[in-house]
Amino acid sequence: MVFKQLLQKLKGEKNEVEYPNRFLKFYHTNKGRLLKERKSTYLDKKKQGVCVRCGNKALEGIVFCEYHQQKQIGYNKKARIK
Ligand SMILES: [Zn+2]
Repeated sequence: MVFKQLLQKLKGEKNEVEYPNRFLKFYHTNKGRLLKERKSTYLDKKKQGVCVRCGNKALEGIVFCEYHQQKQIGYNKKARIK
């Protein structure tokens, strides 16, 4: 398949793994250092699936629980109005 060959070519030239998003890329490129330096980081919580604000169970795919997700939406709205 042409697309797959192109993808492999790009990967070979850049000599790095493609990540689905920048958060994953950051995590994978820094995980050794991060895990050593801090025990309970934002990324650890994200990995564990707990809210980064309160430690409750986070919603699927995001780093906040339902309560803090709603609060976050509120913050974003305020930020846009300013
Ligand atoms: Zn929370």
